[in-house]
Amino acid sequence: MFCPFCKAEDTKVIDSRLVAEGYQVRRRRECTACHERFTTFEAAELVMPRIIKRDGSREPYNQDKLRSGIMRSLEKRPVPIEDIESLISKVESQLRATGEREVQTELMGQLIMSQLLLLDKVAYVRFASVYRSFKDIREFGEEIARLGDDEPKQ
Ligand SMILES: [Zn+2]
Repeated sequence: MFCPFCKAEDTKVIDSRLVAEGYQVRRRRECTACHERFTTFEAAELVMPRIIKRDGSREPYNQDKLRSGIMRSLEKRPVPIEDIESLISKVESQLRATGEREVQTELMGQLIMSQLLLLDKVAYVRFASVYRSFKDIREFGEEIARLGDDEPKQ
């Protein structure tokens, strides 16, 4: 790629490392002309299935939407941003692994919930309460009780 400072064509990689649990490569580059340094991130671009919403309409997969939903449930929780990014990568690779061109929004919700459960229980409960829109308070209570019985291994 061109140097973002002087647009020279020749840049060299001075450092390269895996980030986001190996789903991305971070590279430090230096321009051979002006010697400015900059960083690039590289990730595989793979086709994500489309999402079938509850009303039957379809929409393209939207990572920002997924991230903002997860961020909302993790508000004020002691979870580093890197864990959130790797959660997103895991959910995405599981969605691709279905091999489907379209998946139900419920499936995506379940994948997110099972990852959140491992990461942060409070966030899991928050997410589940929005996503599953529990029919009544008893159902919600049962879910929380079930959580208590079933401590995930850390
Ligand atoms: Zn340059």
